[in-house]
Amino acid sequence: MSYITYPHFGPMTLLFKSIFQEMEVPEERIINPHTPNKRTLDIGSKHSPEWMCTPFKLSLGSLIECIDRGANHVFQIGGIGTCRASCYGPVQRVITEELGYKVKYTNIDYHKPMDMLRDLQSVSNNFNTWQALGALRKIWVKNHSLDLVEHLINFYRGVELEKGETDRVAKEVHNKLFSIHRVKEIKEYHKLIPKMFEDQVQIDEYADPLKIGIIGEIYVVLEPMLHLNLYRRLNDLGVICRNTVSLKKFTDLPAKLNPFVKEYYKIYREKARPYMQQYAGGDGQESLGATILLREMGWDGMVHVWPFSCMPELSAQTIIPSISEDYGMPVLPLIVDEQTGEAGFQTRLEAFIDMLKIKRESERNGQPVEKISWDTFNYD
Ligand code: SF4
Repeated sequence: MSYITYPHFGPMTLLFKSIFQEMEVPEERIINPHTPNKRTLDIGSKHSPEWMCTPFKLSLGSLIECIDRGANHVFQIGGIGTCRASCYGPVQRVITEELGYKVKYTNIDYHKPMDMLRDLQSVSNNFNTWQALGALRKIWVKNHSLDLVEHLINFYRGVELEKGETDRVAKEVHNKLFSIHRVKEIKEYHKLIPKMFEDQVQIDEYADPLKIGIIGEIYVVLEPMLHLNLYRRLNDLGVICRNTVSLKKFTDLPAKLNPFVKEYYKIYREKARPYMQQYAGGDGQESLGATILLREMGWDGMVHVWPFSCMPELSAQTIIPSISEDYGMPVLPLIVDEQTGEAGFQTRLEAFIDMLKIKRESERNGQPVEKISWDTFNYD
């Protein structure tokens, strides 16, 4: 009997969990990963090559925890690609084999959609191809809603009047979203989500918050254990923020294949071309383009989070100072690894925000504070 697992990956963990539910894999055969902590990262680091990127170590630690709880079939994202993400699964398989675990690995490779479909179908409840496609379609649609909820959280939590209200509504929305299974119903619910936040979370409309974009490597941008709860820290400092990276760029095949659909990752890449012509792996090119786009839209600054030894983000980091100077956009680089301490991280964030406030006051030149709302913040 196979017991399926997958690594923890920030809010996207819910999507992975959902894939197997939609494929009607019996619940007792899915070993869902726990929220990772320092122990998880320590386990992964202990068994990884020292130079390997931090997301690899955390996902290995997450998998080993699940294998110790009884999992014997790992689904990992990977395949052909331009950076180490392409070899996560095969290398983790060798490491766990050497540790004495007998585990099957399946690589979910978004470059090969038919293989991906077949692999997921193989663990489903005897789904035919159409049923499996239908299940994947639900995941794509839910991914849109999950992104929307994340953006709403990072807006409302920065200006909410009663602390905790945003989190409460987000939990309610997540629960509902993952309890509905028909595409039509999911799409209808998606339209109601912003209104649920608007109705239930009271905000300070004249809080005059700073607006900060988050750029960087996808695993770090999405996984709280790696970005050290960056979004919550910014919100607690009265800042509203927005993540510019999503799994959508990998999973949303209709948008990928249709040149007329302008998803934001495509716009970021276009904006970045004068500085980086080619896709250089990971999310480096998008990090550059998002910095330009958000400055053009009047945002105050960017935080660039990336893992130690990540080549695509290191490439972006060498170019960001030019963009920062050309566009007058301050960018705070934060490199994370298993040694990153919370105190230094927080101090740097606070100093950056103080600097942005001074900059904005001088740019504003006495103009009155504008009223804010979700609509003035959202750019989708
Ligand atoms: S983008 Fe960077 S951190 Fe992520 S897998 Fe590639 S090299 Fe590693």
